[in-house]
Amino acid sequence: MRLDKYLCESTDLTRSQARGALASGRVTVNGAVMKKGTHVVRDGDDVRWMDETLVPIGLRYIMLNKPAGYECSIRNSQHPPVMHLLDVDKRERLHTVGRLDVDTTGLILITDDGQWTHRIISPRHRCDKVYLATLAEPLPDNAEDLFTTGILLEGEDKPTLPAVLVRVDERCARLTIQEGKYHQVRRMFASLGNHVLALHRERIGPVALDADLQPGESRYLKPDEVTSLA
Ligand code: URA
Repeated sequence: MRLDKYLCESTDLTRSQARGALASGRVTVNGAVMKKGTHVVRDGDDVRWMDETLVPIGLRYIMLNKPAGYECSIRNSQHPPVMHLLDVDKRERLHTVGRLDVDTTGLILITDDGQWTHRIISPRHRCDKVYLATLAEPLPDNAEDLFTTGILLEGEDKPTLPAVLVRVDERCARLTIQEGKYHQVRRMFASLGNHVLALHRERIGPVALDADLQPGESRYLKPDEVTSLA
């Protein structure tokens, strides 16, 4: 990794501040002053700024059990952002992998790895998202077929991709979709004249929400969970 990037990854310095720190001569690599941001830091190098050894944070992969009332967006929000539920350094570098509505609960993934996010949300990758939906009205007898065929959402000209609906009881269903259109699950049920009273995401691809996480709690993903989504 380049030394200027290494400095940003391991401190609160912005890129221009990192350039300033280098120019000031207070950054050393293996004891020697290094002023060039393009210098490549190798494994095992001892990089110091003002005599303090720096260790880059690296990429982070987190699962959060989102409570209702929190917003995934950080802009123009009337609700607190989900990021405020995390007690981590450099929170501003993190983003959510897709979004859940303010009232939706359950699994949200959070990372600073944009490529990983892209692979999960890109429609080309057809990653399963599994939701538990509680409904105002009973499901019609042919609900399974309607979701398999695809549902034309209001304002769209093509039906949704085939989705799998499994009935839990007459007003509750487990739905697996592979897209992430705006308010998709709520709009799918609205197209059938129904209304979603509660929506909870249980799984993204092979990664299920950890049953030990209470609403608002989070944990780092295990390495095999990270790679299972890559
Ligand atoms: N579909 C919705 O309608 N809302 C969500 O939060 C997620 C999927």
